[in-house]
Amino acid sequence: MPCSPAELQRKCDSLLATWQAYRAAPGFEQFVEFAVTLSSFAEFLHAKGLSGLHLIARDLEQQALGLFGDEHAHPIPAQAFDDLGARVDGLAARVGNYIDTSSRPIEDRRFGHEHASAADLSPGRRIWFIGKQLEPWRELMAQLGYFGIGVECWTPETVPADLDEPTTLLFDITGCSRDEWTSALQSLRLRSAASNLIGLAVDADFASLQAALAAGCDCCFPRGTPAAAVVAKILELNANEEEEPYRVLVVEDSLTATRLIQRTLQENGIESFAIAQPRDVLTALKRYQPDLILMDMYMPDCTGVEAARVIRQHAEFLSTPIVYLSGETDVALQIDALRLGGDHFLTKPFNPVILNAIVKSKIERYRALRRSMLHDSLTGLLNHTSSKQRLDAALNAAAAEHEPLAVAMIDIDHFKKVNDTYGHPMGDQIIRSLAWLLKQRLRKTDIVGRYGGEEFLVGLPGTGSAHAFQVLDRIRRDFARIKHPFNETWFNTTFSSGIASFPAVGNGEALVKEADEALYEAKRAGRDRVVAHG
Ligand code: GH3
Ligand code: MG
Ligand code: MG
Ligand code: MG
Repeated sequence: MPCSPAELQRKCDSLLATWQAYRAAPGFEQFVEFAVTLSSFAEFLHAKGLSGLHLIARDLEQQALGLFGDEHAHPIPAQAFDDLGARVDGLAARVGNYIDTSSRPIEDRRFGHEHASAADLSPGRRIWFIGKQLEPWRELMAQLGYFGIGVECWTPETVPADLDEPTTLLFDITGCSRDEWTSALQSLRLRSAASNLIGLAVDADFASLQAALAAGCDCCFPRGTPAAAVVAKILELNANEEEEPYRVLVVEDSLTATRLIQRTLQENGIESFAIAQPRDVLTALKRYQPDLILMDMYMPDCTGVEAARVIRQHAEFLSTPIVYLSGETDVALQIDALRLGGDHFLTKPFNPVILNAIVKSKIERYRALRRSMLHDSLTGLLNHTSSKQRLDAALNAAAAEHEPLAVAMIDIDHFKKVNDTYGHPMGDQIIRSLAWLLKQRLRKTDIVGRYGGEEFLVGLPGTGSAHAFQVLDRIRRDFARIKHPFNETWFNTTFSSGIASFPAVGNGEALVKEADEALYEAKRAGRDRVVAHG
């Protein structure tokens, strides 16, 4: 996810403000406010992929949570006060430093992505490889090159001191002693706040992994991991995935409780919608499509458990997580509530940090489940049904906003021959590489789906036919240049694509059909080309 320096600074300033407020009036309330802001800042850094800064913020959050206590625990002891203050200042200084030192061209690349138009997008991602031996990783680098990811190589001794924050750092520990690699990783982590740090050839035993993660690695691969697996991880880390904000439906009869809950959720970047009457819950679920329901236990006319049972009668809401919020401390009732269709029980007054953590972890799991339903397992792209649904939704939006929308159908050329010559698994690998290329090159707001075996559907909102042609033709040229390794040699494949666009064609089905016709013109004209209709 892209992040602007201004947004980062604003978030950091609001953390400093809550810390100042606690210093001025060191009460429990103020500390809660500070802890919530800190927790939300840590989440923000994580979401923006600023993993070095995230680690610092997370450590600070741990320390703050340890000092949480209750009304009587504040102000915290002078020593802890000074220590915490110094660490807040330290974090703010690192953030300031990061904003200052990220040089302009890199900012353009990292932060400017969302504003780019479809045609002038280039991935421009860069990663560094650091290790004593390059040879075993040549294949990895070649593969990354096909996706437009440049790799610069350094030995641990020659890494430049003024790191300019590549998006990913790969560190191969082969040939380094434990002390050498832990200190090298630590210093990379300290110098490069925004990069993803990946440890390569790390032994898979507990102590080695623990040491690598503690030194600041975001993830580790054991010795002997195939290059394709590392490539997949790097592409995933660099993907233009857009995560929509989490949505929570609050069912709560007390206005004060509702305000408090909604404020906590908002602080943590979670959207919410509240209803006071349980009988409105089905309508609200349908309209708002939440990722989770926060359900008060005691309401007039209906208990939370009764409302949950009603919700569970509707198949579409069978897996929507329900978290109860109640002043009830009776264990038997809590167990009953969980048995009857609830996922978790939180007692009021709730700790906002814990509420946030539980809501987020439940939603993460729920979304992972839904992702597996909506996405294709080979490529991770939208599957046939969901890409059509997304296209219809995009078309409605385009019509409402009087914006154009281009649709492209893509089909790999002579794919039967690829399967016959190189084998089905190699065919799968090619499908996957085209999926990756499309994901890398298109915007977060574009629709990219696997429409059939080796057919893809692409939707480009706000884009007319001519513009879409430029985008697809560039991807076509680059795809044709990818060298797929096979035994000691390699081969190329190509694709053909047909484009149609709204408003020239007025509805979803007709758009796909028109794009299909353009695709078959491209096939008939000799393949490896793009044909755009009006
Ligand atoms: P054309 O240039 O006309 O598109 O020729 P083609 O050989 O690609 O013809 P067509 O698109 O009709 O063939 C699609 C082939 O793709 C048929 C099938 O064996 C293969 N295929 C479909 N899905 C998969 C898949 O998931 N994995 C692999 N490896 N092959 C697949
Ligand atoms: Mg109530
Ligand atoms: Mg086909
Ligand atoms: Mg084909």
